[in-house]
Amino acid sequence: MTTISANLQAVLARITAAATVCGRPPGAIRLLAVSKTWPASLVREAVAAGQKAFGENYVQEGVDKIRELALPSLEWHFIGPLQSNKTRQVAETFDWVHAVDRFKTAERLSQQRPETLAPLQVCLQVNISGEDTKSGVSPQDAPALARQLALLPRISLRGLMAIPSPAADFASQREPFGRLRRLFEQLVREGLPLDTLSMGMSNDIEAAIAEGATLVRVGTAIFGERNKQ
Ligand SMILES: *Cc1c(COP(=O)(O)O)cnc(C)c1O
Repeated sequence: MTTISANLQAVLARITAAATVCGRPPGAIRLLAVSKTWPASLVREAVAAGQKAFGENYVQEGVDKIRELALPSLEWHFIGPLQSNKTRQVAETFDWVHAVDRFKTAERLSQQRPETLAPLQVCLQVNISGEDTKSGVSPQDAPALARQLALLPRISLRGLMAIPSPAADFASQREPFGRLRRLFEQLVREGLPLDTLSMGMSNDIEAAIAEGATLVRVGTAIFGERNKQ
C-alpha cells in the first residue's frame, strides 16, 4: 500500500468514526482530496486508491493538472479565492467552485459556463469567523446573495462553505461550524434547495462532521505537509 492509499484509508476511517459518534450515516459525508501544490502523479496514486473528487486552489496549476490527467471520471473542485479575470478558465474546466462570495463573480461564471457542460456547482463562501482579512460574504448579507445566485441560469447553488479561523479545542472548533449550519438551515427553510455544507479540513473534520458537514476538504492528512509558499 502506498502512503497516499494508507492516508486515504485513515481519513475515511476518521470520517466514519466521527459520523458514527453523532449518529449520521458515514455515506452522507463526501471526501474532497485537496491536491494543490502536489503533482498529477500523486493525484493518480489517490485515484488508484479509489478517490474521485479533487480540490485545487490556483487556477493555472489546477487547469494544467486537469488537462494532464485527462480523466473524465474525476470531479474537480476549485476551492481557492477567484479573481474575476480568471473566471473563464474555471468555468470551462472545473465542476464545482466553493469560494464564491460576490454576485459579479457568480454572474461571470454563469455567463462563461459552456452550454456543452452541466451547470457549474457552486458554494457561497461565508466569513463565519468575522475576520477582516478573510474572504467570504458576511452572515448578514449571505441570504440576499444566495437568493441572487440561485437565479443564475448556468450555475447551480448547492450550499455554503467556510474556513473558520483555527481553534485549539473541539468545542471552539465546533462553534463557527454550528453557526454555518444554522445559516444553512435558515436558507433551506426559506426555500433554497441546498444540500451541501462544505466545511472541515485536516485538523477539524470531526468538529465539522458533528455540526453537519456534507463535504470535507482534506489536503495535508492525505498528501502530507505542503511547502510554505
Ligand atoms: C488548502 C485548503 C484545504 C486543505 O487544508 P489541509 O489543512 O491541508 O487539509 C481545504 N480548504 C481550502 C479552502 C484550502 O485552501
